[in-house]
Amino acid sequence: MDTVLWIVIPCYNEEDVLPITSELFLKELSLLIEKEKISSKSRILFINDGSRDKTWEIIKNLAEKDEHYIGICQSRNRGHQNAVLAGLMEAKKYADITISIDCDGQDDITAMEAMINEYHNGCEIVYGVRSKRDTDTFFKRVTAEGFYKLLNTMGAEVVYNHADYRLVSRKVLEAFSEFKEVNLFLRGMFPLVGFKSTSVYYERQERMAGKSHYPLRKMLALAFDGITSLSVKPIQMITNFGILVSIIGFIGVIWAVISWALGNTVSGWASMICVICFIGGVQLLCTGVIGQYIGKVYMETKHRPRYIISDRTYEKQNMDDK
Ligand code: UDP
Ligand code: MG
Repeated sequence: MDTVLWIVIPCYNEEDVLPITSELFLKELSLLIEKEKISSKSRILFINDGSRDKTWEIIKNLAEKDEHYIGICQSRNRGHQNAVLAGLMEAKKYADITISIDCDGQDDITAMEAMINEYHNGCEIVYGVRSKRDTDTFFKRVTAEGFYKLLNTMGAEVVYNHADYRLVSRKVLEAFSEFKEVNLFLRGMFPLVGFKSTSVYYERQERMAGKSHYPLRKMLALAFDGITSLSVKPIQMITNFGILVSIIGFIGVIWAVISWALGNTVSGWASMICVICFIGGVQLLCTGVIGQYIGKVYMETKHRPRYIISDRTYEKQNMDDK
């Protein structure tokens, strides 16, 4: 039997780019249906992440035009990761495989064919990996590089240069739905699910229209979220740093006592103030990091829903018959 594929596409204020890329997605899907044993029951699922522009209207129009296009609407903006999750959980009910991809055309749509081939060769997860970032600005390249390095040093296992362009099988999604955390960092969570996986390389393109929703501030927040969601290494580092500073302090005390015994008064009001300020700053920083973890625990204990679907372009029952 042919494989049912759902392409999961989060959209937030994408009225400029959606009319362009939706055509490309449909073209690619038709090609896959023709060539790659992909079922005609496959769908392109847009998730409107609480957009404030005409994105949802565009999605609804697309759904009327061609049955391969469908859409769900989040009750408000919850961020890219939650939008992807909403799409994946919806797709899990109907699809054998899903491919999540951004809607701006930056991830090479034609790489889907290679991903599906890898699935047919027995891989349950196929990561789309950016081989080149020539089209990104120098700043974006440097920060992105730092981002992946930092994540790995901090113990979060992520595939280098892989964002959220990935194929996953239903088996993986069923296992993944047992991951109940509210703080989502999907690219770090899927490697934890396990199963046979591989990577497919593609060249990162420029955004076809519209503008990025990830300025430096949001990138840093995502990096910090990723680290604290997947690893407690920062807390270990604080402990290690505390031990180191204590040892230095202890040596300082011995030195001061010996100097005093030898009759040399230890002078240095300025250096003392510097040390006090430095230690004070470091302590506040460390308390802040620990506070962030406590904040996360607090959010996790509330068990709030990670997404709320307020509207669909299709009836759930009808989908079962298709
Ligand atoms: N996105 C979303 N919700 C948000 C922000 C972004 O669903 O709150 C979607 C956006 O429409 C796009 C994808 O996430 O499909 C990636 O966003 P973007 O292209 O702005 O990020 P970049 O590629 O610049 O990192
Ligand atoms: Mg983008």
